[in-house]
Amino acid sequence: MPREVADLLEARPLVKPKDVDLSKVDFDVDILIIGGGGAGMTAALWANYAGVNAGNILIVQKLRLGDSNSIMSQGGVQAADKSNDSPVLHYLDVMGGGHFTNNPKLARKLVMDGPMLIKWHEDLGVIYDKESDGTMVTIHGGGTCRKRMHSARDYTGLEIVRGLKDEVLNKNISILEFTSAVELLTDTNKRVVGALLYNMETQEYYVATAKSTVVTTGGFGRLHIQGFPTTNHYGATADGIVLAYRSGAKLRDLDSVQYHPTGAAYPEQIVGLLVTEKVRGLGAQPVNKNGDQFVYPREPRDVEASAIIRECYERNKGMETPTGMKGVWLDSPMIDILQGKGTIAKKLPAMLRQYKRFDIDMTKDPILVFPTLHFQNGGIIIGENAETTIRGLFAAGEVTGGTHGKNRLMGNSILEYSVFGRIVGINAAKHAKKAKIGKPTLGHVTRYEKMLKEAGIKTDRKAPILLPEYRGEKVLSRALDIF
Ligand SMILES: Cc1cc2nc3c(=O)[nH]c(=O)nc-3n(C[C@H](O)[C@H](O)[C@H](O)COP(=O)(O)OP(=O)(O)OC[C@H]3O[C@@H](n4cnc5c(N)ncnc54)[C@H](O)[C@@H]3O)c2cc1C
Repeated sequence: MPREVADLLEARPLVKPKDVDLSKVDFDVDILIIGGGGAGMTAALWANYAGVNAGNILIVQKLRLGDSNSIMSQGGVQAADKSNDSPVLHYLDVMGGGHFTNNPKLARKLVMDGPMLIKWHEDLGVIYDKESDGTMVTIHGGGTCRKRMHSARDYTGLEIVRGLKDEVLNKNISILEFTSAVELLTDTNKRVVGALLYNMETQEYYVATAKSTVVTTGGFGRLHIQGFPTTNHYGATADGIVLAYRSGAKLRDLDSVQYHPTGAAYPEQIVGLLVTEKVRGLGAQPVNKNGDQFVYPREPRDVEASAIIRECYERNKGMETPTGMKGVWLDSPMIDILQGKGTIAKKLPAMLRQYKRFDIDMTKDPILVFPTLHFQNGGIIIGENAETTIRGLFAAGEVTGGTHGKNRLMGNSILEYSVFGRIVGINAAKHAKKAKIGKPTLGHVTRYEKMLKEAGIKTDRKAPILLPEYRGEKVLSRALDIF
């Protein structure tokens, strides 16, 4: 795995077990959900539908409810619900996109349950783009054989999270904001029985015990792996995998990191922010400094991103910005030429605004792009019921590995948090109904420290880091120097 991830997995805990008083339990619930993005909120709702009282479900959220990668998602969500499509075709795309390294059982669940979850979103009031006859608008994403991407303009995540958040608030599910899980708790039978929480505003620690603990902490974009800029929100610091690994849970595919092919490379203020794949889905072409198209615009993301990096750094046919950032053109005016004037304004209003703020009109001028760190392909190993390899511990969403193998296709991540958020909610509820838990301890942390010592790892680094560090020497250099 990348050094940045290994450094955190081999870091020391934030708190010393001997300094923590676990005898006073502040929250005792049936289900503790760590992370309030799409996966966390979906899990809470389906646990509630499965019969767990709202007051017995606690969502612990590092930032405000919904502040997450989920709310930032733009392009759309895949689901095979059109008459010319089928979950089988979707499955082949998911497996092919992942180079057949995926867990086939998880991929199967993803595609089979997809249409049901889109229907659920609509029942919640999520407004997807529709044709005038009421059918869903669907378009292509990279690596897809059918047009199955459902969207709400280019702020799909904002619209879905609006629906989820409303439902969570209406159901009165308990929420602790600006509070992070800094360690899991285990009992003497090595079951996970809750988490140690840290209120980032008051700096108080809380003990939360639970019959089922669900990790939905999302990914690791803010680790800026290999010095890349990122599309991710500030809370994406790999906390979930750090906590789970320390408790003994198994991880997979962490060698694989998704660089989205098209991050903004200019202007400086938005370097790394996402230029959604929908821009290419609607017809924009990547071209080099000579105006030559050097790659098919809708390859799977890893293939497209590598082609852009090679064009810039091996073939030297990229553009260079005044600060030394390289990039290729994304010929966005092609969209209005191919699909009719006004298409960009109608279908990509957020993108148009992102560039208009800097006096760049993407309907008339191409925009400069370069790959940006986007998604954690691997993560905590789960089974079909979203259970981890440790009893009492469940996980869903970007923090898990297996569904996408070593490369995720566009639109399958919203789908993943929806499908597995539902599954984890239902199964965490089932588990909570019969589970008995022992006294909470930090025994696994003590064991982990011993293992670090035995392995000769000398470090004063601490994890989880909770928020990225942008001060002093660690300020990222704008231009990538790794090449
Ligand atoms: C800009 C952008 C655009 C995207 N566009 C698309 C798209 O069009 N289609 C698609 O399918 N996917 C897209 N994705 C990917 C997709 O949005 C995410 O993979 C997905 O939303 C992850 O959902 P999640 O609930 O697992 O994690 P998140 O939505 O990231 O939620 C995790 C939450 O857990 C919180 N948290 C983290 N650590 C802790 C802790 N220790 N204690 C408490 N809380 C914690 C975080 O702050 C966060 O709120 C996009 C991602 C980005 C960044």
